[in-house]
Amino acid sequence: MQKEIMLCAIDNILSGSCREDCKFCTQSIHHGADIERYRLKSTEEIVKDAKIARANKAVGFCMVTAGKALEDKHVEFLCKTAKAVKKAVPEFNLIACNGTATKEQLKALQASGVDSYNHNLETSENYYPQICTTHGWSERYKTCENVKSTGLNLCSGGIFGMGESEQDREELIAAIQTLQPKSVPLNFFMKNPALPLEVEPITPAQALKIVRYARAQLPGQKLMAAGGRESTFGTDQKPLFEAGIDAIVIGDYLTAKGESCDKDIAMIQSYGYGIAKRCR
Ligand code: SF4
Repeated sequence: MQKEIMLCAIDNILSGSCREDCKFCTQSIHHGADIERYRLKSTEEIVKDAKIARANKAVGFCMVTAGKALEDKHVEFLCKTAKAVKKAVPEFNLIACNGTATKEQLKALQASGVDSYNHNLETSENYYPQICTTHGWSERYKTCENVKSTGLNLCSGGIFGMGESEQDREELIAAIQTLQPKSVPLNFFMKNPALPLEVEPITPAQALKIVRYARAQLPGQKLMAAGGRESTFGTDQKPLFEAGIDAIVIGDYLTAKGESCDKDIAMIQSYGYGIAKRCR
């Protein structure tokens, strides 16, 4: 049977003024990156983005807010918007990505139509203090546990190529394994002149090794190639899918431009894969 690739779109609905100091993130105020910063988009604008994503064959749609934690003042807005997006595109796997969150907040999102919550562990527990000093890895893990306990689908992965060791990579994947998420985004660090991480970009061979290792360790999880797919692999992305990738992020990333959706779809089809019509 022809393998089908799932497409997932992300919508940065509140951008760019986060007080945390994550070294990989252009939305941290500590780094002064040259990005577009804005307050919450309107529900109407987000519904419009969702319809465009569906027209581009996305089966997943993720509403992302910058910031360490989901703020209570945003929960009501997110619930209202989730209902509106689900009404407009009922078939979406609707994902929220709003930082650390309590069980009560997550239950409210779930009751409004959110299907999944994304919260990445980012890197190993051991390496995390090298990447962020304003909050701890255990808070991230706890939020993932909260997501699981509410019955929402968990989407949790990390970023590779931030100076971590092979052991850190293995420890991250082992930690993800303990959570048994439904999907696992694998990001490859994208350099930006404002960011303090001085590392060599990950090579395609290193990235493929990570994907193969993740595939072997996480046989039941949907593996998604997220940020850094294009900057790492250029136009030769077939090995990614051969290594076990089931899904990709299409369109723009949070603060970086992505490839055009039409080109990505044509590329996937040229490799002999189909485009999934539903999120499985
Ligand atoms: S908490 Fe999230 S938005 Fe804030 S700096 Fe870290 S990754 Fe970026």
